[in-house]
Amino acid sequence: MSNNIDPYNDFMQTAPVQYMNREGVLQESGKFIRQWGEKCLVSSGETAWLEAGDQIEKSLSGSGLPYDLIRFSGECCDQNAKKIVHEAKENGADLIVGVGGGKSLDAAKAGAEFLGSPVVTIPTIAATCAATSPMSIMYTLSGEFDRNLYLKNNPNLVIVPPKVIAEAPTKYIQAGILDSFAKWYEGRTVFPKLEQPSLFASSSFELSKLLNEKLTNEASDTVELVQSNKVGSSLIEVTNTVLFLTGVIQSLGQRENRGAAAHAVHNGLTVLKESHELLHGIKVGYGILIHLLLEDRSDSEIRETISFFEELGMAPSLKKLGLPGDDDHLRAVAEKAVDDMLMDYMPFEVTPRMVEDSMRTLEDMVG
Ligand SMILES: [Zn+2]
Repeated sequence: MSNNIDPYNDFMQTAPVQYMNREGVLQESGKFIRQWGEKCLVSSGETAWLEAGDQIEKSLSGSGLPYDLIRFSGECCDQNAKKIVHEAKENGADLIVGVGGGKSLDAAKAGAEFLGSPVVTIPTIAATCAATSPMSIMYTLSGEFDRNLYLKNNPNLVIVPPKVIAEAPTKYIQAGILDSFAKWYEGRTVFPKLEQPSLFASSSFELSKLLNEKLTNEASDTVELVQSNKVGSSLIEVTNTVLFLTGVIQSLGQRENRGAAAHAVHNGLTVLKESHELLHGIKVGYGILIHLLLEDRSDSEIRETISFFEELGMAPSLKKLGLPGDDDHLRAVAEKAVDDMLMDYMPFEVTPRMVEDSMRTLEDMVG
């Protein structure tokens, strides 16, 4: 029997230990962070620190928690995670606080994992559920995907500052919303085909219905709020959906109710170097539309989804996303998408030809 523990397969981890999302939370962040350590190392992205640093510093000082600050830049890679470990050891820190976007938070979580310390995340954008998940997506120093690093625990404390998220560029919340939506579109394809879904898979599916309802009703409002840099109740609800609920659905569904064509097409798009500039969620949004076409959903449903995504600010075609759409590129994307293990979760066989045809159909529909 192996002594190794595999956090992905051996047990379930569903949510962060503590989660907060309310106005003014940064001003009192110190007293909540202090619960988890005697001295902390803050690792923050540059822009994130300009937005949130002042309030965090004041609050840490005010609560008497000593801290050191390092800048995060570049990729979430082993080198950056080890730098965090090194700095923490140098400074005698027993707690890591990550501030910023997905890569910065993933690096802080990986650093804490290697160090064996608790971790606090402070997301300054809501483009993914990195703030709450028990996983870091590791890249090489030059930005190639390396591996998924499954962690011993979800973050100990997540502090979401809605004002900072409202003041970030709109593309981040748009991407976060579309990536969350995939939980519903993929779930309703995968779940009904499970022969004996577990309690956990069923829970994840029920929650994805709620997610769909929430985003359908409140996503447009939220995008408008972020466009005018305002906080409102829908922004809080939608960021909770993107940052928290999506992660819970993912964790509950981990082994059964999985991603499918929308994410497989996302992974296919990564063969286009032009796509590397686009946020994960934006590519997933495109993948959702291809997913619907592959399933042969009704023309009216597909058209409604396209106009809804456009209302959310997404450009729903290769042309509008600035990606090449000639035959060779389409074939390369389709082959990579079909090769992806997530495509196997589709309840019927998907061929590269079907993906290519769907991509062409979408271009014709959107123009
Ligand atoms: Zn995703």
